[in-house]
Amino acid sequence: MDTVKVKDKLFGLYITEDKILSRVKELATKMNNDLAGKNPLFLVILNGSFVFAADLLRDITIPCEITFVRVASYEGDSSTGQIKHLLGLTQSIEGRTVVIVEDIVDSGFTMKELLHMLEDKNPAEVYISSLLVKPGNLKVDLDIPYRCFDIENEFIVGYGLDYDHEGRNLRHIYQVME
Ligand code: 5GP
Ligand code: MG
Repeated sequence: MDTVKVKDKLFGLYITEDKILSRVKELATKMNNDLAGKNPLFLVILNGSFVFAADLLRDITIPCEITFVRVASYEGDSSTGQIKHLLGLTQSIEGRTVVIVEDIVDSGFTMKELLHMLEDKNPAEVYISSLLVKPGNLKVDLDIPYRCFDIENEFIVGYGLDYDHEGRNLRHIYQVME
């Protein structure tokens, strides 16, 4: 099936599950090489990253730790950058190699604020990984060394990402149709 309806919008198939999984494997291999000996702490940003994280982290073969956090904002989930705080980070990250696992970087405001919040906790280093990046929308300077796909500025859904709380469980990634 090449199109899917989520709530009031029609979405077209954009990246298939097969293609996603092979890219995720490549990314894991790169991380296994780059981060060997660092015992990284993977910081999975809920909710959107849960599918990506489950696939990526099962291909990580070096010793590592995994924890789950949430970034709470004022108004829903929109890309306003109005972040209040980080929820769920109970362990110390001091001196650790931290790898953020994010679903999508759009304007980059969310990621920038997250980096600021983490820097206060004195990690040794922080790397960003993101399933998707919209380079055409980036409004801040960010180094994203681990990314699976650079995509267009259209709204996408599936493989963990939602449209108005639905569609996260779709296997493929779909793009909104006009
Ligand atoms: P940013 O702060 O980078 O502009 O936005 C990041 C957040 O906006 C993401 O974590 C995600 O929640 C949401 N977002 C941005 N673009 C999309 C998209 O195309 N689809 C979905 N489902 N969420 C998006
Ligand atoms: Mg996200």
